[in-house]
Amino acid sequence: CGIIGFTGRKPAKDILIDGLERLEYRGYDSAGIALLNDDDTLTIRKKAGRVSELRELCKDGDYSSTCGIGHTRWATHGGVTDANAHPHRCGNVALIHNGIIENYSDIIREYGLADKLVSETDSEVVAALLDTLYDGDPIAAIRKAVKIIAGSFALCIMFADRPGIIYAVRNVSPMVAAHSEEGSIIASDLTAIISFSKDYFVVPEYHILTMTQEGIRVEDLKGNEVKPQMLEITWDI
Ligand code: GLU
Repeated sequence: CGIIGFTGRKPAKDILIDGLERLEYRGYDSAGIALLNDDDTLTIRKKAGRVSELRELCKDGDYSSTCGIGHTRWATHGGVTDANAHPHRCGNVALIHNGIIENYSDIIREYGLADKLVSETDSEVVAALLDTLYDGDPIAAIRKAVKIIAGSFALCIMFADRPGIIYAVRNVSPMVAAHSEEGSIIASDLTAIISFSKDYFVVPEYHILTMTQEGIRVEDLKGNEVKPQMLEITWDI
């Protein structure tokens, strides 16, 4: 039920977990993060339970990555288990999803994805679909996937061979995004980005975001760049 993504000039892990803590009030049953490393590997840590337990799980190890995504889950499809927690990984793709993919069983059948799935979630089907559609062009794969999936979704996606980049797209489910000198951030709501920047935009539906430490490109599904309408947070927490 909560999404956070950060790519920038600082290690991402604590920014993600702090962000998930700020989103806890939305309610959730599981939490997880995925980090994209410079050597084209992905690190995923996730579990059923509290964000504080996720923090504990991530205490030791190499967390120098400056690009990652984090999720708190409110289960709709599949029980509350570690395997069903997000992020989901399939091949090159790591993904988090808030919402419901209504046609997930049709997609599994049509694209022969059953063997790729290790969870019971509707969300993992999108990771498997993207991995199937991916031929080296992330935006092309996302564009195709978005035309296939039906339902509500806020998605943040990383490709193992695209270091430093987070892609995002949504329909109905909320996401806001911001850029500052520290990098680019995206979240379900402002509570998770207010300490980072006061200038933000609401992610337009059915537009693809390409987020790097330098900035955020927004484009429509035809590939035309769109300048999002910037808004300002006028309150403090
Ligand atoms: N439908 C997805 C699941 O059950 C996402 C739930 C959510 O929005 O957190 O995993």
